[in-house]
Amino acid sequence: MNDSLPPKIAEALAEGLELLRPLAGEDSFYPSIPAALVRAGLHRLPVPVDAGGLGGRLTDAVRVLAELGAVDGSAGLGLAMHYHTLGAALESGAWPHTLLDEVFSSVCEQGALINLAATEERGGSPARGAIPWVTARRHGLNWVINGEKRWTTWLPALRYAVVTARIIDSQANGAEKSLRIGTFLLDLSRQGVECLPAFDGLGMRASASGLLRLQDVCVEGDRLITSSLAGADDPRRASALAWFGLCVAAVYLGVGEGARSALVHWAVQRKPVDGTTAVADIPAVRIRLGKLDAELRAARLLLLEVARRWENAGSGAGREECLPDIALAKLKVTEAAVFATDHALRIAGGPGFLRGVLERAFRDARAGLIHPPLEDVAYQEFAKKLVHGRKPPS
Ligand SMILES: Cc1cc2nc3c(=O)[nH]c(=O)nc-3n(C[C@H](O)[C@H](O)[C@H](O)COP(=O)(O)OP(=O)(O)OC[C@H]3O[C@@H](n4cnc5c(N)ncnc54)[C@H](O)[C@@H]3O)c2cc1C
Repeated sequence: MNDSLPPKIAEALAEGLELLRPLAGEDSFYPSIPAALVRAGLHRLPVPVDAGGLGGRLTDAVRVLAELGAVDGSAGLGLAMHYHTLGAALESGAWPHTLLDEVFSSVCEQGALINLAATEERGGSPARGAIPWVTARRHGLNWVINGEKRWTTWLPALRYAVVTARIIDSQANGAEKSLRIGTFLLDLSRQGVECLPAFDGLGMRASASGLLRLQDVCVEGDRLITSSLAGADDPRRASALAWFGLCVAAVYLGVGEGARSALVHWAVQRKPVDGTTAVADIPAVRIRLGKLDAELRAARLLLLEVARRWENAGSGAGREECLPDIALAKLKVTEAAVFATDHALRIAGGPGFLRGVLERAFRDARAGLIHPPLEDVAYQEFAKKLVHGRKPPS
């Protein structure tokens, strides 16, 4: 599969995997993991070549993340968050050039990492339309940000967070007085920023998806990336949905594929009963293995096809039309990962139940169900299209 990657990205991936393997598979976060991926240059993937990056497209990001996810789900997830934030920032055209240039040069010259800090304890999933409780209050030419974000992946390794906040602006007039949501580029070295460990999850335990506490953090007016009315439809959101959905799905595909490799290796070696027949040669096991493989291969084909379609969609309406397929790919890929890691444990029985690769993959895969695009929202959208988009019977 790496044959399809541009040579520079393939080289960075080979180096990243070599550095990652000895560090991988832990249930705690180690800063050496993001540092290793930065050393290999993988963090530069979505940055354009003329800005010092590797000029990777969404299909390249997806391929790289699946490979990393197979070795270490949490490491893959951390990089997926960095990729989707940068990829969408570039592609959507929503960011002011000065901020984009600053971030690209920090990424390429200083190894900076970035993520979106949207989720809050009180609001629940932003994908369900949660309005932030974090506030950005205008203070002269600046903004003062207060509140807490939860679940910010790779928080201890980040230089920047894109923070969503409810805008409070006493200078606003007319329509601007309505409830607005702003996104701000926040350098986490700012005074008033605290990055705290707060993640004790079932899976993705090494993802350091922490608590970002913001207390009277003062940022200049030009750190505001976008501002929009709460609930308003923004056509630029398509890029964010595509990069997020497919990057995250790729990681979980990798988790499933990593479990498949570990399982096959184990099943060929393991010869229970009288030591003559390997688990892999038992017909009933073969059927399970074949099913697990079929789910993962179908998921991989779907993921790459949808990523390709996205790249060929041009902009505007073409991209909007891709969104149901993006949701479909994310749903089917994460379901395949859950199926494969579940069946891997059923095949491996007792040895699979013990702490190790299969047990971790089983837990990690389930986190995929929580990320947007969300299952119930997507199925409702599919049904809506079926019902309202149907042609009258001829
Ligand atoms: C490993 C991991 C890493 C993450 N990293 C990040 C990150 O870097 N940045 C970030 O911002 N977020 C991150 N998240 C947060 C994530 O995307 C979700 O926003 C967060 O988990 C809250 O969503 P929720 O649906 O679980 O919670 P809630 O919104 O509280 O919902 C809980 C449950 O209630 C039900 N429910 C709630 N509202 C509705 C509704 N309107 N309709 C139907 N059912 C409803 C659903 O069954 C839902 O599962 C991460 C999550 C995980 C698991």
